[in-house]
Amino acid sequence: MNTLSDEEFEQIYGRKPVRRVKKKKIYWNRIIIALIILIGIIIGLVKLTALVVSKIRGDNTQNTNIVLNNTSSSKAEKDTSSEEEKDDTPAKYSNMDFTVCIDAGHGDYDGGTTDAAGTRYEKDDNLKIALEVQKYLEKYGVNVVMIRDDDSFLELDERCEKANNAKADMYVSLHRNSYDGDISGVEVWVNNSEPAYDTKLAENILNNLAQVGISENRGVQYGYVGNPSVNYYINADTVMPSCLVELGFITEEIDNKLFDEHLTEYGQAVADGIVQTAIDVGLVDESGKRLMSDQLISPEKPVNNSDSSSAAVAMTEPMQTDTSNDVYNTQENEWY
Ligand SMILES: [Zn+2]
Repeated sequence: MNTLSDEEFEQIYGRKPVRRVKKKKIYWNRIIIALIILIGIIIGLVKLTALVVSKIRGDNTQNTNIVLNNTSSSKAEKDTSSEEEKDDTPAKYSNMDFTVCIDAGHGDYDGGTTDAAGTRYEKDDNLKIALEVQKYLEKYGVNVVMIRDDDSFLELDERCEKANNAKADMYVSLHRNSYDGDISGVEVWVNNSEPAYDTKLAENILNNLAQVGISENRGVQYGYVGNPSVNYYINADTVMPSCLVELGFITEEIDNKLFDEHLTEYGQAVADGIVQTAIDVGLVDESGKRLMSDQLISPEKPVNNSDSSSAAVAMTEPMQTDTSNDVYNTQENEWY
């Protein structure tokens, strides 16, 4: 059948053709059903994903005690951190009835040491790890006295005084090391009288950190870097078992990478080391019940009297590190 063009129509009928626009029927019922099905599929997928994620987390919880070495995959790392964010893991310990002083070294205008670029400050790393340790200790029911929980500064004598006044049972100072050369790893410093409780505390912390994964275990060390006849101030002026953890070299890329990747695990490692020590020395039993009525003190550690004026003079003298041999530099410069 021939259809007329508009012109032909107009010639014949003397008017423009009226074209009826055929209205398309919209099948709303079909659209709604399709939408419902789509929403159903999306909800199903979300639930399935949540199920898979919770399964992975569940598996990971069971693996918390498995030793992670340096080559632990970043996937395991991610699982652990997401697990921590949820904070739904059962605590390894609970109701631990003792007090610990956690000291994030340096702070405020005292940045501590820095990386080679001079952009990464020790004080910030110290605070980060200190807050992680605090998180775990509090989860375990331990009473935590924080020397600082922000970017503030306390003098060394004020730090010791705070711990002594709080009758803390243990004192752990957290630092990062530095060296202009090829040295990496973790070491823990204890008073040069080699007191048993302090050494136990240092060993437990170091062993746990090594199990998480560190570039090198540099061992428990006594005295002060390059000079075993003097001590770090905090190891000389605290009455309770104490140690100073140098958690890797901020001047070494590998140590910074490990620090950043294992921050949470390092925090737990230090916290677990502290609790293990409390149990090992008979401060509390496995259930956390306190066995000692008094504050835990370090019996063999000769504690300096911070009231003495000679102590005040000695502490301000920076350590002259001998760089003629292979002694590395530390910027702690805090000795007694
Ligand atoms: Zn430091």
